[in-house]
Amino acid sequence: MTGTVGDSALQELRGALAGRLLRPGDAGYDDARSLFNAMVDVRPAAIAQCTDVTDVRTAIAHGRAHGIPTAVRSGGHSVAGSSTVEDGLVIDVRALKGVTVDPQARTARCGAGVTWGEFDAVTQQHGLATTGGRVSTTGVAGLTLGGGSGWLERKHGLSCDNLRAVELVTADGEHLRASADEHPELFWALHGGGGNFGVATAFEFDLHPVGPEVIAGLMLWPGERGSEVTQLLRAEIEGGAPEELALAVVYLTGPPEPFVPESLRGRLCCGLAFLWAGDDHAAGLAQAEPFRALGPAVDLVGPMPYTQFQSMIDDPPGLRNYWTGDYLDALPDEALDLFVENSERMPVPSACQAILFPWGGAVARNGGEGTPMAKREATWVCHPFALWEQAADDAAHISWARAASADLKRFASGGVYLNFIGDEGSGRVRAAFGESYDRLARVKATYDPDNFFHFNQNIEPASAQPTA
Ligand SMILES: Cc1cc2nc3c(=O)[nH]c(=O)nc-3n(C[C@H](O)[C@H](O)[C@H](O)COP(=O)(O)OP(=O)(O)OC[C@H]3O[C@@H](n4cnc5c(N)ncnc54)[C@H](O)[C@@H]3O)c2cc1C
Repeated sequence: MTGTVGDSALQELRGALAGRLLRPGDAGYDDARSLFNAMVDVRPAAIAQCTDVTDVRTAIAHGRAHGIPTAVRSGGHSVAGSSTVEDGLVIDVRALKGVTVDPQARTARCGAGVTWGEFDAVTQQHGLATTGGRVSTTGVAGLTLGGGSGWLERKHGLSCDNLRAVELVTADGEHLRASADEHPELFWALHGGGGNFGVATAFEFDLHPVGPEVIAGLMLWPGERGSEVTQLLRAEIEGGAPEELALAVVYLTGPPEPFVPESLRGRLCCGLAFLWAGDDHAAGLAQAEPFRALGPAVDLVGPMPYTQFQSMIDDPPGLRNYWTGDYLDALPDEALDLFVENSERMPVPSACQAILFPWGGAVARNGGEGTPMAKREATWVCHPFALWEQAADDAAHISWARAASADLKRFASGGVYLNFIGDEGSGRVRAAFGESYDRLARVKATYDPDNFFHFNQNIEPASAQPTA
């Protein structure tokens, strides 16, 4: 026993769980403790691999009774590393699998350990989908509780907008169902308030007809054409592009793939991610024409399975990550030029990316008092993120992402999407919720008055009387 958590307390927990309790030295411990972000090299005292709701309740009760710092983990994609804790307890819900679809009602229910790839694979058997992450390995749980930004959002809203219910275990061990009719304040808070209110065990979503075949894909140009591509993207969006159309400009290093010409491999490229989520494929192909007219060096846009597009920009795990981002209310020339110039300064070759994508449509429509996330009327989201291999290169990559963000701050609306940033302090958490922060703090006081769940973008419990 090297840490401060008592050995007997953990032996007791091991005996009480149906799932495994992994401790340093146990087979599988190192795999189980690793997160997507390789910068997070944390050694918990124990990882409780919960197999059911009872295990989750047992782990919470144990963590509380013994004063063990406790984190909650699903897909492990927290860039901040908030789903693990040094010398503490990790409640790991990855074994809570299962996706069931009611095709008539167009709803789905899934366990909290499901990834978006697993979720999409089942719903697409019925030609249905909901807004999910842009990378198939991300967890449904962390992404949805933090809001959930994905390609379908302009048409169908964020992932959390499609929630029908969340089942969760609260700090006092109650397993409850939050929906519009049951614990409505809690349900409201779960639309972006993250893992602050308990351990989610299952989610229910509304689904929409999408695919299984869609018009989608990537286009690539040499980096120096990026300004033209970004200007065209802005013109298309400001010209009223339909909500079925998802677009993003993505600066990246040309990958060593057979479909990428030799001249672009290892060089800065400007890409366009394109998805037409409507059922009229001819209309979707027509939307690609203005971009085709710019003569992309790579053009993969065409009919493809929705599930293929959903995994098309999957990043490899095991890289070091630094992420940040901001909302913009408008994209004047000066802001567009800054985005382009900063993207051109990206370390190349590397796995870094700078993404600019439009909001609006259902993201804005579903904002307001119905959700705690502030400033959803933003029209653009700018999201530089650095990925690299060696610790010796940390400073260069982090400073690129920070500078790219800092330069654009004067155009930023002040709002922020917390899933796209690391730990940037309590001020950013407040900024993400604006006037809703105090209401969230009251919900927190009701369901987690001692702030047991604080390894997250933390909302501190209000000291005022809790609300029911
Ligand atoms: C490669 C990559 C791609 C991404 N793409 C997108 C994207 O397209 N859109 C987007 O919106 N975000 C995206 N993100 C950000 C992602 O949404 C967040 O990192 C999210 O927290 C990941 O959820 P997870 O379950 O995988 O993570 P975890 O690391 O397991 O969890 C992160 C946090 O979520 C909370 N949490 C997780 N599970 C539970 C649970 N069962 N109950 C209560 N709280 C829980 C906890 O607070 C935990 O600290 C991406 C991240 C990465 C690394």
